Amino acid sequence: MQIVKHLKYYRIPFSGLTTGKHNFEFEVDDKFFDCYEHSLVKMGQLKADVELQKQENMLIVNFHIRGTIRLECDVCLSEFDAPQDFQERVLVKFTDDDWNQETEEVLVLSKTDYELDIAGLLYEYINVRVPYYSKCSEQGTNTSCDPEMLEKLSDSSELDTETGEKTDPRWDILKKIKNN
Ligand SMILES: [Zn+2]
Repeated sequence: MQIVKHLKYYRIPFSGLTTGKHNFEFEVDDKFFDCYEHSLVKMGQLKADVELQKQENMLIVNFHIRGTIRLECDVCLSEFDAPQDFQERVLVKFTDDDWNQETEEVLVLSKTDYELDIAGLLYEYINVRVPYYSKCSEQGTNTSCDPEMLEKLSDSSELDTETGEKTDPRWDILKKIKNN
């Protein structure tokens, strides 16, 4: 219950706003990510500046998201904070305006809606920032792989000694079949 309540914070009531630009600020932290069971990001500390431009028949919403997300290095397995600074934009149209395709950039609300829920947008925007391959020395700042950990890992069978990369256990099984 606590969790659902928390996401209510990420709603912008726009119906009472005058036409023009309005600015909002949201904090996105661990509590936010806790609300999403499948979130790739579990921890983070970000600030979202939201500029909502209200027009006669639509809303233009610009996001500027800054802060850090906690990632795990795929090489040395240590956790590190990866800095983020990016912008996103979404258009919000209303159904009576003869617009019925919902695309990535266009959200469709009903004429009777009076607030914009940005929690889902923030969730998506931040989660797509998680790189397919994380490396502390690449996405982190002033960090490099933990040498002790690297040594430990290179001793374990999980690492392919030739390439120094983690191998997929499924390939190992295939290799064994092939070798038989
Ligand atoms: Zn590392």
